[in-house]
Amino acid sequence: MDAKGGLHVLVSFDMESDIGSWTNEHRGVAEGTGPILEVLAGHNVSSTFFYTGASVLACPESPAMVEAAGHEIGCHTLYHESVGPPIFNVPGLTPLLPEEVPHRLARATELIEEQTGVRPVSFRAPRGWASNQVLESLDRLGYLVDSSYMAYFHGEHLLPYHPSAQDWRQPGQLSILEVPLFADFTVESTQNDMRDRDQWPMLRTRDGTALADSIMRGARALWADGNPALACIYLHPWEFVEMPRVLDTSEARIEFKEFLWKHTGQVALDELGTMIAQLADAGAQFHTLRDFHDVWVSRYEKANWNCNMTTQQWVVPRSDVIAEVAPVIAAAHLPVPWPAGCGEFPLPNPHE
Ligand SMILES: [Zn+2]
Repeated sequence: MDAKGGLHVLVSFDMESDIGSWTNEHRGVAEGTGPILEVLAGHNVSSTFFYTGASVLACPESPAMVEAAGHEIGCHTLYHESVGPPIFNVPGLTPLLPEEVPHRLARATELIEEQTGVRPVSFRAPRGWASNQVLESLDRLGYLVDSSYMAYFHGEHLLPYHPSAQDWRQPGQLSILEVPLFADFTVESTQNDMRDRDQWPMLRTRDGTALADSIMRGARALWADGNPALACIYLHPWEFVEMPRVLDTSEARIEFKEFLWKHTGQVALDELGTMIAQLADAGAQFHTLRDFHDVWVSRYEKANWNCNMTTQQWVVPRSDVIAEVAPVIAAAHLPVPWPAGCGEFPLPNPHE
């Protein structure tokens, strides 16, 4: 491992309803929390668990177990609602109006504090769909960390930064710290949305060794540029409980794609342990988001570390990414609030 930086791994769990929140059930939260905590305890790893208000109400014993085990309780909105513009197409999901965002985030924060006794200071937007309004609201509510920046999509930052109030995807003056979600830019993408560079759901669709290898490739590239290495990864409790392939509702029968249910349950638990063990052998330090905030600010920012990705070979031109994804989103006929200046959509972006 590089002596200058280090390898910081943030394993986090988005505590939501089952199968990407396509269902209203919380079997993952109810049945998955205990086994996940066992794996983490076996490797002495601290994690952040981002709860929706709904999951706390459905399974109050889950955050109680997480808190008792010394992990962090974060916030993942009230109902897994969309608080920012989409970066991929999900039918029936329309983002909140920008003026609704501050109230929703305030209520989610209060509810989690009321129910768990812990005021969350770390946040992740459902599906990573954040916005300027989200970041401003979180900053005002006293959050220390947002971890919604999907590096595979936005493509510019792999290391933390303090976002701009005018464009949360760029560095600026807000005091909250944005911690990007790991993506592997050494992979040649074959998908139009670049999602095959994302770390999720590689733990299950490939295995823990593949994910650890991907993180190490990313680490070596960051070290080569004189940076510390960071891999913030997101997982979900329902991945660690065997999930059905089909959802029958009163109006539709939904057949899930294989990547949503493949190797959910015991295989995923085993692979989580394998990934953690391999990264620990490589010298990784594991942190909660809250604790990593302090590490980053005290160790790296105060040393005037260059927090921006500058290596051209790693930077994905955002306009290219947007050009690839725009037709997918436009095809859904959603009133997509898209960043100003992209020129792809007829509607103004209310989030700007
Ligand atoms: Zn989520």
